[in-house]
Amino acid sequence: MLGMTYHEYVKSTCSICGVSTSTVGSELNHSDKWWHQLTVSTLVCQACHDAIHWLPKPQLIDMGELDNDQLKEAFSLSVQTASTYGGVLRQAMLNFKHHDDIASLPMLIHAIRQLPRPSGCHAGNAIILPMPTTAKRIGNRGFDPVTILSRYLSKHWRLPLWHGVSRVDDGISQQGLGRQERRDNIKGAFALTNPLPDKPYRHIILFDDVVTTGSTLKELAFSLINSTQFPYNTFHLSAYAILGGKRP
Ligand SMILES: [Zn+2]
Repeated sequence: MLGMTYHEYVKSTCSICGVSTSTVGSELNHSDKWWHQLTVSTLVCQACHDAIHWLPKPQLIDMGELDNDQLKEAFSLSVQTASTYGGVLRQAMLNFKHHDDIASLPMLIHAIRQLPRPSGCHAGNAIILPMPTTAKRIGNRGFDPVTILSRYLSKHWRLPLWHGVSRVDDGISQQGLGRQERRDNIKGAFALTNPLPDKPYRHIILFDDVVTTGSTLKELAFSLINSTQFPYNTFHLSAYAILGGKRP
């Protein structure tokens, strides 16, 4: 978090084009400027922000494909992404995930800040479930990108994180696999390790960094529905990701 404070309030340059963002709003009077600083992200300048297509139409994942008659009509999982998987944001995501490039993080945080908090959700009735990963992957990479990014989403939405599901498989990465291969690769990959909190958390929000075919989110949703102590129709599942729509 300290890195972002430095970037926004000391460095104050656009994380995409590098122009100074501290001059944005310089024509405003003192009280307006104070409000401007509170409400406008200075991680990305207005021109770069406007060049990105934000909030594409949500992707619907048909849960009926999981061959469970009870669920077939009940669920299609809605996945909202901040933007599509392309351009500078795609490059930022690749640099952050695969090259430990911390300089790409401000762009991704700016993208997270475009995601509107799901309607009806507040800290008393909603939890965010970040996509779990394996210890082996964390060991290989040295960090877990989703864990880091989900903290910013939690701060942005003021909703708590919940880590009650573990990834138990040793599956290979989904990257580069076809639709059917992805589905087979992810089957049985998750297990509930903690019961859902007893509080009436009616909204469970799944979160991943990138969504492509949606098969990983679908399997996570399915393992939650099958394992939780609550009937599936007593809570609402939705999913959010930073980028999606095109295959990496
Ligand atoms: Zn810019």
